[in-house]
Amino acid sequence: MTRPPFDPPTERDIAIVSAQLGRPARGVVGIAARCVCGAPTVVATAPRLDDGTPFPTTYYLSHPVATAAMSTLEADGVMAEFTELLADDAALRDAYAAAHDSYLADRAQLGHVDEIDGISAGGMPTRVKCLHALAAHALATGPGVNPIGDRALDRGSWSPQVCECADYGIDEVAE
Ligand SMILES: [Zn+2]
Repeated sequence: MTRPPFDPPTERDIAIVSAQLGRPARGVVGIAARCVCGAPTVVATAPRLDDGTPFPTTYYLSHPVATAAMSTLEADGVMAEFTELLADDAALRDAYAAAHDSYLADRAQLGHVDEIDGISAGGMPTRVKCLHALAAHALATGPGVNPIGDRALDRGSWSPQVCECADYGIDEVAE
């Protein structure tokens, strides 16, 4: 898996991510996970954007089909279900807290930003607030680091092993 430090994104990566997001990609320092076809699925983002904004979601899910799959789970009440799992399982709570620490350790390699010091993403270390952020972390690290992100990916209808990428219309952009 690609963890910090990241190789700089290529021009093609940035073009695909911008097409995925429907706006110019900002603060992308690397591609943390990819579809089997090579398209980015998770971007690693600088902890402070060029305009000075602190950005806590270091691992950002960019792939629209993946994003839609996580939105569906959220709409189906899966966050409440995972919150109950955490309440009932001390080992799971410990693993989730460790995922928070791992997230912050990865970000620390990208820079220190006072405003988000100690703040990770997705509700970690104790809450489940955004499956997109947790799934992005799980994709970036591989299985076994973020237990809630792993569960979200297992439950979702999208898989990084099956390409559902759109034609981003960027064939003219060099590899
Ligand atoms: Zn693909």
